[in-house]
Amino acid sequence: MIDRVIRMPPPVFTHPACLDHDPGPGHPESPARLEAILRRINETFPGTIREAEPAPLELIERVHPRSYLDYLAAFSASGGGPIDGDTVVTPSSWPAALGAVGAALAAVRHAHQANGAAFAAIRPPGHHALRETAMGFCLLGNAVIAAREAQALGREKVLIVDWDVHHGNGTQALVERDATIRFVSMHQWPLYPGTGRAEERGVGNVWNVPLPPGLPATRYVHELVTAIAKAIYGWVPDMVLISAGYDSMLGDPLGGFTLEPVHYADLVGALRAAAPGAPMAVLLEGGYDPRRIAEGVLATLGALL
Ligand SMILES: [Zn+2]
Repeated sequence: MIDRVIRMPPPVFTHPACLDHDPGPGHPESPARLEAILRRINETFPGTIREAEPAPLELIERVHPRSYLDYLAAFSASGGGPIDGDTVVTPSSWPAALGAVGAALAAVRHAHQANGAAFAAIRPPGHHALRETAMGFCLLGNAVIAAREAQALGREKVLIVDWDVHHGNGTQALVERDATIRFVSMHQWPLYPGTGRAEERGVGNVWNVPLPPGLPATRYVHELVTAIAKAIYGWVPDMVLISAGYDSMLGDPLGGFTLEPVHYADLVGALRAAAPGAPMAVLLEGGYDPRRIAEGVLATLGALL
């Protein structure tokens, strides 16, 4: 009991602008998602939420060309509009994107300095964003920008684990020719965006785990843990990033996986056992039932106590 009292959860970085981006009525990627998460964190782990600085463009330019950033900024400032059927930009979207990346960078820096863990409670999500193309609710590749920051801090070998129910096609596209980053994605198959076959191996640095919906939750945990073990066999990561999408939970309106909050705790525990000593930054991706995803995030934080 005393042990639980003195152990603190990792800091949760966010930015107020992340709550302002609103793709419109009925859109699943709503501000209510992050509101629910931050409310539950405040109730359960008061004092852990920290406000990050917006990301400077030069750090985002490690991943996206300046022309794309200028386009997004100008499109957002001029009122925005739909980029594709799913992805909507509004005047609040660009500040939200910069705030989201800023919180991801802050989480990486904290994890690096403390040799511990940090969480980034952010939106818009990032794992579908390509180098010069927004898609799937995502504008910027938050996880890959975070990975580049880890490398700039001397954490050369970065493992990115993506447990969102959708394939992290953007992350894969941005790292699949770079052996310094290894990417493991478990996702429902077939499902949006249609990539993520097991045969897609990059330069040997990509492990995709496509699975059907409706399996027992422990099967998903087992399959992802097995893929992580393969990915880090003989290769010790200097930093672990998690693209934490909670649309892999049972009942999510966009996915058919069956995870419960405890399974995210199991995955975090397995990752820490597999890569002991590697700092860990957890970045929010998808998840579309606000009440449920807040419980998933709490379980993740609880496993990082
Ligand atoms: Zn997703």
